[in-house]
Amino acid sequence: MTMVIDCVAIGEELMKEIVKETETLKTKGITPGIATLLVGDDFGARMYRGQVEKFCEEAGFNYINENPSADVSEEEVIKIVKKLNADPAVSGILPLRPFPGQISDSAVINSIDVNKDIDCFQPFNMGKLALGEATFPPATPAAVIEILERYAREVDKVDPKDFFEGAEIVVVGHSNSVGKPVAYLALNRNATVSVTHVFTSMKGNLAKHTKGADILIVAAGKADLIGPDLVKEGAIVIDVGINRVKELDEKGEPILNDKGKPKTKTVGDVSFDAVKDKTRAITKVPGGVGSVTNRMLLKNALKACKIAHGLL
Ligand code: NAD
Repeated sequence: MTMVIDCVAIGEELMKEIVKETETLKTKGITPGIATLLVGDDFGARMYRGQVEKFCEEAGFNYINENPSADVSEEEVIKIVKKLNADPAVSGILPLRPFPGQISDSAVINSIDVNKDIDCFQPFNMGKLALGEATFPPATPAAVIEILERYAREVDKVDPKDFFEGAEIVVVGHSNSVGKPVAYLALNRNATVSVTHVFTSMKGNLAKHTKGADILIVAAGKADLIGPDLVKEGAIVIDVGINRVKELDEKGEPILNDKGKPKTKTVGDVSFDAVKDKTRAITKVPGGVGSVTNRMLLKNALKACKIAHGLL
């Protein structure tokens, strides 16, 4: 019997834990805070900024919005980062990319205080992650691990340590923000990890790997990449992908909205309906990993706040 993992419930539970910890810190006169740095007005980055603001409000955090115009110089942006580094109301700094062309990602990222780098962008923090000593495991990969750990404890009734040790895990996607860090987090838990990517597919080798996975983590950004033929019977499938696709009718034609434009919907990388029954457990999109990601960011900000106040 397949279980659709209720990531929304996991996110809500995490939020309760975060609110409780924040209230305890506030009794000591300490309030955690997150600053976002959006340069210009990229649509996706603005959406993400709004979500961070909403979650900060729910958690009782300070929220600081830095939003210089798209024509700002790199020097000015770095000045803003330095100001945030020195601001005790800011526990964590979140640069929201893409930045305009005149601003180098790495110049901005490298100017963030390593103890305020709550989404693990800094090479120093990525290095610690690789060594198995992550201070701030990046939010999305950490969300994947959190979902699996809760599944191990609550459904399989096993210690997450035993769940991961020797588990055959295949990751699809090798980006610096999702694929590689999630692979490290699983490897550091002594899983047997294979990382596949677009070049694996180009050589026709994707199925060879994914079909051997007891746990399949997919983060490619390609709708319907993973059909039932790529999944082992009884696998656990975690779908990180987020894709906007056209809604189709039964003849495969786009369904139009009142303005005559094709309706769209959000899907993951896994063909959920076709794959679901083959799995032991699966996450869906929307209502999946994304419901946990922002909470992991808040958890990292709480940790950063405690580090700043000598509580950790
Ligand atoms: P990315 O574009 O940086 O990396 C995509 C990865 O997928 C690459 O490693 C690429 O080689 C691989 N890939 C692409 N096509 C492939 C194919 N045909 N076969 C095998 N591998 C293929 O993307 P990213 O930032 O890692 O994000 C991946 C997906 O996860 C996106 O859909 C993104 O929107 C989503 N995402 C979700 C969350 C969340 O909280 N749920 C957070 C971040 C990213």
